[in-house]
Amino acid sequence: MVFSIKHIFSLVSVLFLSASLTTSVSVPENFAKCLSDNSKLSIPIFTIYTNKSSSFTSILQSSAKNLRYLLPSVPKPEIIFTPLTEFQVQATVICARKLGIHVRVRSGGHDYEGVSYVSEIESPFIILDLARLRSISVDIRSSSAWVQAGATIGEVYYRIAEKSKVHGFPAGLCTTLGIGGHITGGAYGSMMRKFGLGADNVIDARIVDANGRILDRKAMGEDLLVRIMCLVDVTNSGRLTYKDRDTQKNL
Ligand SMILES: Cc1cc2nc3c(=O)[nH]c(=O)nc-3n(C[C@H](O)[C@H](O)[C@H](O)COP(=O)(O)OP(=O)(O)OC[C@H]3O[C@@H](n4cnc5c(N)ncnc54)[C@H](O)[C@@H]3O)c2cc1C
Repeated sequence: MVFSIKHIFSLVSVLFLSASLTTSVSVPENFAKCLSDNSKLSIPIFTIYTNKSSSFTSILQSSAKNLRYLLPSVPKPEIIFTPLTEFQVQATVICARKLGIHVRVRSGGHDYEGVSYVSEIESPFIILDLARLRSISVDIRSSSAWVQAGATIGEVYYRIAEKSKVHGFPAGLCTTLGIGGHITGGAYGSMMRKFGLGADNVIDARIVDANGRILDRKAMGEDLLVRIMCLVDVTNSGRLTYKDRDTQKNL
């Protein structure tokens, strides 16, 4: 039996225009203050890494798959922020817009062009690293699961297999792929011929839009959900069909 997933926290179509900061306060200070001002709970200090933090380099390298983009000559982020809640993701979007800071979103870090952790043009930039948002909640009765963007596809397979010997999710082969980048890129794997792409089996998503609103399927509308899951369509095959699980109608 094939599983459906609901995907938490895609940051989609978030376009930030860089602007130079006009104050003399540093980007990390400005950003940290803005985060606190816009968060319901205080921001733990261990979630913000500046280039002065002792673990900055190890966090930067932790999931990066293309070592070329870690060379000293390659631009580095002002901050790596590892949010613990959806409200902190929301605050990041609001603050980045307000302060004119470019954001790179990283889930599993498998982007070979380094897009999730390097910005060679936009400056200053920060990394929004979703590695701490990785909860997986499997509901066998409805054959569905809510999965946060920072979880890996291997963790999803494992959590499903813990609960059932006959369920699976059709996605990629490399178990360290992050859900956030993998699903929005299509997610092909060995069950593709029978069950389609991972993206075909997404039935809901919670996103933070460019205005900092948290939206689910109902709030964002079917068009946007289809567009999120059709990112692959634009660049690859030119064909993808999405069937609504409830009505069985093509979207
Ligand atoms: C070793 C290896 C094996 C692979 N095997 C497969 C495979 O079997 N099947 C397959 O389909 N693909 C495969 N891929 C490709 C892989 O699916 C893509 O590179 C995918 O984008 C990686 O997602 P990530 O979250 O790990 O990467 P990241 O580098 O974190 O993100 C990739 C892109 O998605 C964006 N992004 C990340 N998180 C989010 C989010 N939450 N919301 C919005 N945008 C986000 C990033 O900004 C970046 O542009 C493989 C890649 C590698 C390096």
